[in-house]
Amino acid sequence: MLSYRHSYHAGNHADVLKHIVLTFCIESLKEKEKPFLYLDTHSGAGRYLLKSEHAAKTGEYLSGINLIWQQSNIPALLNTYISILKRYNPFEELKYYPGSPLIAKQLLREQDKLNLTELHPTDYPLLRQEFSKDKRTKILREDGFSQLKSKLPPDSRRGIILIDPSYEIKDDYQTIPTALFEAYKRFATGVYLIWYPVVSRSQTQKMIDGIVNLGIKRISQFELAIKPDNNQKGMTASGMIVINPPWKLHEQMHAVMPWLKTTLDTEKTGNYIIKELVSE
Ligand code: SAM
Repeated sequence: MLSYRHSYHAGNHADVLKHIVLTFCIESLKEKEKPFLYLDTHSGAGRYLLKSEHAAKTGEYLSGINLIWQQSNIPALLNTYISILKRYNPFEELKYYPGSPLIAKQLLREQDKLNLTELHPTDYPLLRQEFSKDKRTKILREDGFSQLKSKLPPDSRRGIILIDPSYEIKDDYQTIPTALFEAYKRFATGVYLIWYPVVSRSQTQKMIDGIVNLGIKRISQFELAIKPDNNQKGMTASGMIVINPPWKLHEQMHAVMPWLKTTLDTEKTGNYIIKELVSE
């Protein structure tokens, strides 16, 4: 039984970091005309109403995207990410937050393909609705991890794979390195983005070590903490593991992370990591 709903968390600081990295990677792949596949294993509902009962209950977006939205000095490198937000929020008020499938929907071209999977019985139809007229997109109510075997390699031999589970099922921490290994065997040149939360540092580190020990080359880590590690409940930091990062990604993240930290780490107790975990 899936109880996690992303509508409680949409637009939080973790979404902001995740979607900025995603936007940079998609834009990099678009530098070549050749088509590519965007595979999103855990897609969510697509669009989130920030005035909903769920969002109001946690208020997470208030310390995430809402802080970004209020700034007048947003770095130009974030223009593409901000332009997508503006598409869903044409007026001054920040009403909707677009999740990863809608970000990809806006950025991908006619020649590209999207493959989305979502298991939740309520979120799956919402996601379908967002793409009802989009011929580039396949949406399945299936296990996202299984797509890493069945959909790779893509015909185009180019692709971005976002693996973004909720970690509601603790097995996700163990499943990720195994599933990634299977995917990489099939498609070693794909750009893989694996989102992770830091709730328990040791649990997260074990998963990252598991990825690093797979023998895969070119692995990077981008993490933003808004609190120091602690033993209390709740997420203190989140990050992205990127396999085969596009060549500009480190430079782009070095340019925007200090601003993101200043804007989102309001208590000034956090930190960030930009690191190459495994080189060529
Ligand atoms: N990627 C989305 C975004 O950035 O907007 C957020 C995804 S949310 C963190 C995780 C989603 O995965 C939830 O909507 C949950 O219902 C779904 N889910 C959980 N287990 C799944 C599985 N095995 N396969 C596909 N979806 C799953």
